[in-house]
Amino acid sequence: MSDRTPYIAANWKMNKTIEETEAFLAEFLPAVGAEGPDVVVCPPFLALKSAVEHCAQSRVRVAAQNMHEEEAGAFTGEVSAPMLREIGVDAVIVGHSERRQYFNETDEALARKVPAALAAGLEPILCVGETEAQRDADETEAVLERQVAADLAAVAPADLDRLVIAYEPVWAIGTGRTATAEQAQEAIRFIRDLLRARDEEAADRTRIVYGGSVKPGNAAELMAQPDNDGALVGGASLDLGDFAAIVAAAR
Ligand code: PEP
Repeated sequence: MSDRTPYIAANWKMNKTIEETEAFLAEFLPAVGAEGPDVVVCPPFLALKSAVEHCAQSRVRVAAQNMHEEEAGAFTGEVSAPMLREIGVDAVIVGHSERRQYFNETDEALARKVPAALAAGLEPILCVGETEAQRDADETEAVLERQVAADLAAVAPADLDRLVIAYEPVWAIGTGRTATAEQAQEAIRFIRDLLRARDEEAADRTRIVYGGSVKPGNAAELMAQPDNDGALVGGASLDLGDFAAIVAAAR
């Protein structure tokens, strides 16, 4: 049994207004016990400030779903890490497959985003994972190796445990198709070995979680695997009861 604290994050994507965020948290926060996994909610940008204020008296933390790698400048429509820190955001999802797929997020940009997040005091939740075609072509490990090497190129080995890594096979995101617990364990173990090659102790402390159609019914089995430290939850995190059940499964 590892002594890494389990980590459960709710990626709401482009869902929930400020009002809906507040209503969710008003019910959810009292239900989160004093102990258990680290719990993080990731609302859309506009709801972040209110979420931070609501979570202030609880142990639930707030993450953004994206950031720009520069601190400031002519990047219309973007938000920087210091801006997120200014309103009390703790963490940030980077490299989500939807951003890689629809918004051209590249490994080159991620190589700058991850250190920029760390420098600003944000915990990066770095998403990596293969597409269905890549898995079918037996390229899963090559893809993970390439993404981890590129995205973490500028991170000092001793800083690796300041990140959370989410293994999110693209074919399992929002599809209802979950990786088996064994597939998730195998990929997460592979990622941990990649980190181990850079810093053994940091690799043992780094939380690596699974994401992809996690539901109350499969969460416990997925998280029982020795290297899987929790879940990044999309669809099921929009429902208070489902998300609370997934958090409970990680205790
Ligand atoms: C995600 O968006 O990170 C995700 C895992 O989504 P879902 O749980 O809906 O597959």
